[in-house]
Amino acid sequence: MIIDLRSDTFTKPTPGMLEAIMNAAVGDDVYKEDPTVNELERRFAEMFGMDTALFFPTGSMSNQVAIKLHTQPGDQLICDKWAHVYNYEGGGAAFNSGVTCNLIDGDRGMITAEAIEEGISPFDFYHTPKTSLVCLENTTNKGGGACYNFEEFHKIRKVCDTHGLGLHLDGARLMNAIVAKKEDPKEYGKIFDSISICLSKGLGTPLGTVLLGNKDLMQGAIRIRKILGGAMRQVGFMAAAGIYALDNHIDRLAEDHKRAAEIAEVLTKLPYIKSVEPTETNIVIFYLIEGLDVAKFLSDMNEMDVKISTMGQGKLRIVTHLDYTQELHDKFLKILNNYK
Ligand SMILES: *Cc1c(COP(=O)(O)O)cnc(C)c1O
Repeated sequence: MIIDLRSDTFTKPTPGMLEAIMNAAVGDDVYKEDPTVNELERRFAEMFGMDTALFFPTGSMSNQVAIKLHTQPGDQLICDKWAHVYNYEGGGAAFNSGVTCNLIDGDRGMITAEAIEEGISPFDFYHTPKTSLVCLENTTNKGGGACYNFEEFHKIRKVCDTHGLGLHLDGARLMNAIVAKKEDPKEYGKIFDSISICLSKGLGTPLGTVLLGNKDLMQGAIRIRKILGGAMRQVGFMAAAGIYALDNHIDRLAEDHKRAAEIAEVLTKLPYIKSVEPTETNIVIFYLIEGLDVAKFLSDMNEMDVKISTMGQGKLRIVTHLDYTQELHDKFLKILNNYK
């Protein structure tokens, strides 16, 4: 049995999810005639109190469409230096929308209203790129699953309103934040102009992301999705997995968080670990002591059927998920405790 902790994207559909997929009613979603996709979109829009939801194959595409909707070529968006939209979408902001990113040196992937305000180009200074969008991430990926405080969101919203900026949330793991902090999805709907939520991370579906927004903004979304090649046909099979996840895989995220916290606690006490980042959700970031080789540690773990990922600069990452069971958890903690 492999203990795969590289990401929460290595899960396989559960028997219940597979059954939901097999029994899905489907149609052609390009004609908007796939009843299961329509139902998934309706469920998400309602849950967040937003007008419109649109189903996408990936979170990167959903983020990229959001950026395109909010900006014009030559504009600039503001995000954290570790943001997925900047680091892990292949330079898509430049490729698809012709925008540059003003990177803020945040705290574990989170940025403050104050830093955002400082990063905005002066309104009447035509030498600098026009700032038109702020992209936040919740939970943060490279920041180790950190979650914002809602108070900061309110402050950021105010800055965006003052300066006429759009506010997009890359919520690939938003449900983790909502469960960890016991938040109300509708509060997110009130703050953000657009929200992207992945079904294929902690929620455990094979694919899919939903982009939420209000009518005015989302009008153009379906066209840009088409341009990027994201208009899918009988994709209700995958939307059915998403609906199943909404009904069955949200509350259980608390288990992933509990196991991640337990791993962090064990790591903190081990002599070969230098430090562990605060662990709020399902991601644990940690560093080995000086002199210990990262590649050797990873290959030793690999030999014991444990897979962990490295994020560069000595940063190691563990992500707990649906297929990381209590049995595997007990086994993994034993392996960590016995490692020399
Ligand atoms: C995974 C992820 C995405 C989307 O990734 P895809 O692989 O394109 O679905 C976006 N943002 C963050 C923070 C992520 O972790």
